[in-house]
Amino acid sequence: MASTVQTFRDIREKLAEGGPLSPDEGLSLYESCDLHTLGELANIVRERLHGRIVYYNSNLHVNYTNYCVLRCKFCSFYRPFPKEQTQTTAGSDRTDSTPRGKPAANEPGTPTRRDDGYELSVDEVVSRAKEAYSRGATEVHVVGGLHPGLPFSYYTDLCSRIRDACPHMHIKAFTAIEIIHFTRISRPRLSIKEVLTNLRESGLGSLPGGGAEIFDDRVHDETFKTKVGEAEWFDVHRTAHELGMYTNATMLYGHVETPAERIKHLIKLRDHQEESLRSSGAGFNCVVPLSFIPEHTELSHLPGPGGLDDLKTLALTRLICHNIPHIKAFWVMQTPKLAQVSLNWGVDDLDGTVGQYDITRREGDGSTQQALTVDRLERLIVEAGCTPVERDTLYRRVIRDETSWRIEGEPWSVAYKA
Ligand code: SF4
Repeated sequence: MASTVQTFRDIREKLAEGGPLSPDEGLSLYESCDLHTLGELANIVRERLHGRIVYYNSNLHVNYTNYCVLRCKFCSFYRPFPKEQTQTTAGSDRTDSTPRGKPAANEPGTPTRRDDGYELSVDEVVSRAKEAYSRGATEVHVVGGLHPGLPFSYYTDLCSRIRDACPHMHIKAFTAIEIIHFTRISRPRLSIKEVLTNLRESGLGSLPGGGAEIFDDRVHDETFKTKVGEAEWFDVHRTAHELGMYTNATMLYGHVETPAERIKHLIKLRDHQEESLRSSGAGFNCVVPLSFIPEHTELSHLPGPGGLDDLKTLALTRLICHNIPHIKAFWVMQTPKLAQVSLNWGVDDLDGTVGQYDITRREGDGSTQQALTVDRLERLIVEAGCTPVERDTLYRRVIRDETSWRIEGEPWSVAYKA
């Protein structure tokens, strides 16, 4: 059996030639205790692609509803929809954002769900986007649960009204499972391609890539059996790429999957990227490894990943997905401090200011807003020895002064209040 030193040497040579890591090489790296060499190898790839640049963006997350028809075991976000209201056309004409009706009973064996289900009206989502746009945000990131009552027109209206109110704000919205949900609720029923085309015509710019979890049948059956699996997830992203739309990809790690299953997931993303770039030209912009947070989920007995596991996973993602340009540490889930350390373990993107993220929370009871200022993001990056660069969703540089921002190479600019 090759020694770890020999394995690292072989991998270093392979990386110098731009070769892809094999599953066994990925596993050897993951199982090695030599965290520093792993980080150094990941940084070879990162610096070849981006030098010492680290990207961030000025964005706002909006989670339009936490009602969901599914019950994924790793999810602390969903709330059961009040049963007596399932048949309504919820939200289509509502302008408030209050909880609806009585909460549905929690199912036996599931964690108690608080009575704080909500859905935001289109007006409310647009108002939040406008507020962020007026303060200089370049992107709104919109995802939510699979609401049983909202019609497909809610989602097209949401996009078109944000586009009209915030003409240069990039709308990055809807996970693959939401897109599949829209194919089921649309009347007449639409295909994935028709749903994406309708949304794009309404202003959708790209897909954020959530809902991938871990591409493995065992893990799927154990933790999110009723949710669509990898075939459908890839169908949505393949179709988006064929339409010329860029997307991101995620991996939720640190629950019931093994390291080998994690690596298999990343290799599937790499293979798909190769296929998409060859056939459509568009593909994944970045991979976002999401660190599992067990609190308030059905998997709360699990410990969740520690900091070293986070670092190893981010570095391996960089090494395995060598054909996907960017690796993002989503600081909400990895914490700002760990995300900062990861900038020397292959990561080149810190996501953004975020504003508010309801899907999962690392600390406290979830009642506090989660946001980082641009100053704090830049300080984290500079302290790590890197150069901060503000980007838009498609990784174009944002040129900003105190009163306006523009995208490098574009003729327009947007005024804002700092
Ligand atoms: S992960 Fe998404 S689809 Fe699954 S229960 Fe949570 S909100 Fe619903």
